Amino acid sequence: MITGRKVLLLNASYEPLSLVTAPKALTLVWRRVAETLEFDKGVQIRSPRFVFDAPSVIRLTHYIDVRSRQNRVTNRHRIFSRDHYRCQYCGRRGTAFDLTLDHILPRSRGGRTLAENLVTACKACNNRKSDRTPEEARMPLLTNPAALYYGLERAAWRDAARSRPEWRKYLFLEYVEQNNDAAMTA
Ligand SMILES: [Zn+2]
Repeated sequence: MITGRKVLLLNASYEPLSLVTAPKALTLVWRRVAETLEFDKGVQIRSPRFVFDAPSVIRLTHYIDVRSRQNRVTNRHRIFSRDHYRCQYCGRRGTAFDLTLDHILPRSRGGRTLAENLVTACKACNNRKSDRTPEEARMPLLTNPAALYYGLERAAWRDAARSRPEWRKYLFLEYVEQNNDAAMTA
């Protein structure tokens, strides 16, 4: 079903920003907030009166500041999903009801509420770690912390790009590396 198809949204500078649904993408194009760069070949969106070629890649007509977007509080379910609903300290699987989010660098030490500073933790590990770093608590992360810097959106893009060859040229690696450096020095 077309409503499940994702569209790659680029900033005016061509930097990838996020994935949006096809209807959302069409709305942005319709309102001239974005323009279509690539179409989803052979896929059409039908309304009672119109038939549209579905977009695959769209670009904002005006640049938006990515830094302020990154400061949004991150949705906990997306972090759980990134971590496969597994405590990143002891490996125990859980559900949204018994898992918590742990700040890798504690908030009391200046740790920020960003995807790359949050991991899934069971309540026992979260209590045990308390206001310490993983090193101080001798609780190493199961996931290579560097992988967390890739962030949620980027992990989703790479998965999605496997079936969307028209996206690849917009998801060039230089951007990811440059952005990681920025995240680590922030
Ligand atoms: Zn645990």
